[in-house]
Amino acid sequence: MAQRVAVSDGAAGSKRTSRVRVAVRLRPYMDKQDEKSEGSCVRGLGPQKLEIINWRNATETLQYQFDVFHGEQTTQQEVFLTSVKPILPHILNGQNASVFAYGPTGAGKTHTMLGSQEQPGVIPRAVKEVFNLVGAQKKDQDGWEYSIGMSYLEIYNEKVLDLLSPGSQDLPIREDKDRNILIPGLTHTPLSSFADFDTHFIPASLNRTTASTKLNQRSSRSHAILLIKVVKSQRGPPHRQQTGKLYLVDLAGSEDNRRTGNQGIRLKESGAINLSLFTLSKVVDALNTGAGGRVPYRDSKLTRLLQDSLGGSAHSVMITNIAPEYKYYFDTFSALNFAAKSKQIVNRPFVRETVLAPTIAPGKRTREEQEAGGSGEPQNKRSKEGKKAEHSPSPALHSQSSPDSSVLDRLLALEKMMMGSAERERLNLLKTVAQSRKEIQMLKEKQKELEDKANMFNKQKETTEKESKDALLFKTDLPPLHRKQSTAAKPRKQQAVVTPLQVSQVQPLQQSAVVCKPSQTLVKKKRVQTEVCDGKENMGVDLPPVEDVNWESRLDPALLEQSRKKILQTLNSGSLKELKSLQQIGDKKAKLIMGWREINGDFTQVEDLRKIEGVTVKRFSSFIKANILSSMGK
Ligand code: ADP
Ligand code: MG
Repeated sequence: MAQRVAVSDGAAGSKRTSRVRVAVRLRPYMDKQDEKSEGSCVRGLGPQKLEIINWRNATETLQYQFDVFHGEQTTQQEVFLTSVKPILPHILNGQNASVFAYGPTGAGKTHTMLGSQEQPGVIPRAVKEVFNLVGAQKKDQDGWEYSIGMSYLEIYNEKVLDLLSPGSQDLPIREDKDRNILIPGLTHTPLSSFADFDTHFIPASLNRTTASTKLNQRSSRSHAILLIKVVKSQRGPPHRQQTGKLYLVDLAGSEDNRRTGNQGIRLKESGAINLSLFTLSKVVDALNTGAGGRVPYRDSKLTRLLQDSLGGSAHSVMITNIAPEYKYYFDTFSALNFAAKSKQIVNRPFVRETVLAPTIAPGKRTREEQEAGGSGEPQNKRSKEGKKAEHSPSPALHSQSSPDSSVLDRLLALEKMMMGSAERERLNLLKTVAQSRKEIQMLKEKQKELEDKANMFNKQKETTEKESKDALLFKTDLPPLHRKQSTAAKPRKQQAVVTPLQVSQVQPLQQSAVVCKPSQTLVKKKRVQTEVCDGKENMGVDLPPVEDVNWESRLDPALLEQSRKKILQTLNSGSLKELKSLQQIGDKKAKLIMGWREINGDFTQVEDLRKIEGVTVKRFSSFIKANILSSMGK
C-alpha cells in the first residue's frame, strides 16, 4: 500500500496551506463579424491585469489582477509552459497537484484542458511531460522505480462515475488514515507510455459523451476529472513509497442556469452543479484569503475528492476561461469575481475600438475621455461591487438633461451587454429610435423657424384675445378653498423646476394665489382656449412668463396634482396609442418616450419629459398646460 511520506520541499511542514494560483485566459472571438460589430467587453492590460466594463456605471472599468493573464493570442503551448509545467516535477516527489479549468460554457475550458489534434491542450501536454520527467529520473536515480497510472471519472449530479468502466454506479469517496483521499472501486489503469494513455483516454472521453443523449448539455453540467498517479518505490529496504497525484479537471460550466434560462435543466441538476462549484469557490476563497478557518472540503463531492490535491501541501492552478462577447458579460463578470478576491474600480470609460452606433459624436467622446482620464484616481472607497449604484442610475446617464449621442451609445452598449443575442431585435429598435431622433430634431428646427415667423404675425392678436378670455374664465372673486399650505405650494414648487427663469416672478403669488375650483362649464371653455393657444402653430411660444405661472396657480391644487399624476402614469405605462392620446404627443415623440423609458426606466416626475430630446422648457410648459387642462375637462 502506498504511503505518503513527509514532504520537505522547503515548506514549513506538510500542514502548510498553499494558495491556489489563478490564471485567466481570454479566448478570441469565435465570429469575426461579432468582433467587428460589437467590440469586446473585456481586455488585457498586461501579463497579469485585465479590465472589464462596469455595467453599473459605463464611465468606469473594473480592473483585476491575477497571477497570470493569458490574452486572446496565447497559444496552448504558452498556457502549458506558464501555468502548468512548473508544478509537474512535484508529482514525482510524492506531492499532489491539481489544474482545473473554470468558466462559463463556451469560454474555452475544454479547449484549454483537452484541445484538439492540431492544438493539444493541458491534458496531453501534461501527461507527456510526466512521462518525460519520469524518463529523465529513471536514468539518474537507479534506487527508485516509477509507475504511472490513470483514472478518469466524472461528477454528475453529485454522483461519482467511473469513465473507464462505463455503466458503473456512484462511487464512494473515502479518506485513509494518512488523510489520502481514495475512491474504492475506481478503475486504475497502469500506463507504460504516452501512446498507451491515448488508447485509454480517447475512448473513455467518448464514453462520457456518448453516454449522454444531449452531449453538450451533459458535458457542460458535469465535472470531468482525470487523475494521473505517479508511484515512486524504493528498490531496496526500507522500500519506501511515495505517491504523487495530478488532477486535471474540466469543470462544469459556471453559468447561472436559472438566469440563462437553460431549458430542460432539472432543478436538482442545477443545484448539484452549483453545490460543487459553490463549494469550490468557498474552498478557493478560504485557501487564498488564508483566514485559517475551516476549509469546507466536505461540503461537496468535487472538493472532497480534491481535498488532498487542492491547498494543503498541494500545488493548484485554476485557469479561469472567459469569452470576449457581450452575451457572456455577466458570466465573465461572475467568473472573474470568483477568481479574484479583489478588484479595483477605475474611473475611466471602457472605450471600445469598434463603432457600435452610427450616432457617435467623436468630439464629445474625446472630451469625455479626457475628463475621465483627468480624475484618474482609483475609487477604492466605493462599496466593493459598486452596490451603491445598483439601483440608482449612473451619474453619466443622468448628468445631462437630454441624452446626446455618445451617452446613447453607452446606453446601447449597456443594454446590449445585459441582454442575450436573442434580444437583438430590441437593440435594433433602440438604434432606430436614435436615428429617427436625429431626423426629428432637424425637422423640428425647420418647423420652429416657420412657427416663429407665423407667431410674429399672430402674437399681438392672440395675446389680447387670450387675456380677455382669461379674465372671464378665472374670476377671482370666489372665496379661496382652505387647503394645506403644503399641498397648494407643491405644484408651484414643481413649476419652479420646470421654468427656472420664472422663479422670481412666482414670489408675489405667495400672497396673491387664488385657488379656484373650475366648474364644468369653465373647463369646457378652457379646452377650447387650450386648443387655440397650444395648438401646433403656437406650441410653447408667446406666453408671457407671469401668465404661464398664473394659469396653474388658479387651479385647484388637488386636481392639479391628480392630473399630473395621471400624465405621469401615462408617460410611464402608456402604450403607443395612449401616449399619442396625450396633447402635443405625436407618433414620433411617443416612440421617443418609449425608447427613453426602455433605457432609463420610469419617469419620476412629469418634468423628466424634458430629458427627451427636443422638449424645451417652453414646449414642456405648453405640453403640461394643454394636458392638465384637457384632463380636467374629461
Ligand atoms: P467550454 O469547454 O468552456 O464550454 P470550449 O472549449 O468548448 O468551451 O470552447 C468553445 C469554442 O471555442 C470551441 O469551438 C473551441 O474550439 C473554441 N475556443 C475556445 N478557446 C479557444 C482559444 N483559446 N482559441 C481558439 N479557439 C478557442
Ligand atoms: Mg467543455
